[in-house]
Amino acid sequence: MVNLPPEDNTPRVAIIGAGAAGLMAAVFAARAGAETLIIERTVEGGRKVLISGGGRCNILPSDVDASRFVTDASKNSLKKILLGWPLKEQISFFEKELQLPLEREAETGKLFPASQRARDVRDGLLAEARARGAKLYAQALVTGIAPKDGKWAVDIADAPSIVVDAVIVATGGLSVPKTGSDGSGIAFARKLGVLVNPTYAALTPVLAETPLFNALAGITLRVRITARDGEREATAEDAFLFTHRGYSGPAVLDVSHVLVRARDEGRRDARLLVRWTEIPEEEWTRRLGNAQAGTVHSVLRRELPERLAEALCRHAAVEPSRTLPQLCKDERRRLLDVLLRCELPWSAHEGYRVAEVTGGGVDLAEIDHKTMESRKHPGLFFCGEVLDVFGPIGGYNFLWAWVTGRAAGVGAARR
Ligand SMILES: Cc1cc2nc3c(=O)[nH]c(=O)nc-3n(C[C@H](O)[C@H](O)[C@H](O)COP(=O)(O)OP(=O)(O)OC[C@H]3O[C@@H](n4cnc5c(N)ncnc54)[C@H](O)[C@@H]3O)c2cc1C
Repeated sequence: MVNLPPEDNTPRVAIIGAGAAGLMAAVFAARAGAETLIIERTVEGGRKVLISGGGRCNILPSDVDASRFVTDASKNSLKKILLGWPLKEQISFFEKELQLPLEREAETGKLFPASQRARDVRDGLLAEARARGAKLYAQALVTGIAPKDGKWAVDIADAPSIVVDAVIVATGGLSVPKTGSDGSGIAFARKLGVLVNPTYAALTPVLAETPLFNALAGITLRVRITARDGEREATAEDAFLFTHRGYSGPAVLDVSHVLVRARDEGRRDARLLVRWTEIPEEEWTRRLGNAQAGTVHSVLRRELPERLAEALCRHAAVEPSRTLPQLCKDERRRLLDVLLRCELPWSAHEGYRVAEVTGGGVDLAEIDHKTMESRKHPGLFFCGEVLDVFGPIGGYNFLWAWVTGRAAGVGAARR
């Protein structure tokens, strides 16, 4: 794909960004009959789709729990928007209309293309948009948008401006800037007086400089984890991964925004608490009280990876080789605390560099929930990650991009 300036300088709908949301918007704007131009700064767009799900693209969840989305805007507005395109219909769109069969991963319930190739998702959407007449203007950086005589002027670096009836901002957030998303859409919105809530890195790994836990790099297990400060709390039950630099895995990513926001706001009170197994407190109390059971390490090792069992003993300041009858009351209490509500030390986070999404963004109160049109600026639409909504790992963020992209495409074409 090359840089192709439009032959005709008057498309009806211009979409800024050929990411997940922009491509979906293009499909639906073009299907509705609007002359549609996608303006994309990178060579071909869709870079996040290509790297998503480890190159497999977790395209959707198999079930949606709306309460798992995070926003500072109204949860009611969020739910109304989600109702705009039910999950079943989205699945049917990909399988029947894009001819992209999906497969459900048994363990997680996540949906992937049966081909296991993220490229098929990006290429399928782009091919459908093009088949309906949409054009891609690649390697074109939009530098500004402004209302002009009832239309919209779109300024492009080193190229003439374009005047359109409707403009859709699908520029994504600030995460993983090397994919092309640098927050320019957020800047456009602010400049136009649209309310933008503070942005923050979300679904990002947490850093910790603790030799005891850093040495466990590579160990993964299912946990229940909570991140909490005086203002916010998030809990997840999923896989946890020790890394050389700290902690990652879906469970950690899903709660990381609480730590990020506390740090962004200059607070140091955010805590990370882990329950390592599903075994209830009474059962652990019983097991640690069983005088026949051997050493502390051998009891923990039955339920936990061996090296983690040893590290947790040390974290509780209990020598792993001590036998159960040797334990004093205080040591037993410290072990229970570490097993059931282990406070993990952490020092920082990986930030936008690797964050899977950006939290914050354009407030949902600014847009019409059916069409994604700005309430202040007729003809201006927003979709995808530029809006103040993100979801947990599991296909929720593409779901948001698909729902809002489709609504914006249809809405913009109708103008
Ligand atoms: C490593 C990784 C893995 C992920 N895996 C998954 C997954 O498996 N499942 C899931 O649901 N979500 C996943 N996500 C999140 C998901 O990719 C995003 O939520 C989604 O791509 C957001 O789509 P978007 O179209 O709003 O923004 P983006 O995908 O960021 O697209 C924005 C587009 O706009 C272009 N652009 C920006 N500014 C301009 C400008 N000024 N002029 C022209 N073009 C511009 C950019 O180049 C880019 O192509 C993952 C994210 C990452 C980083």
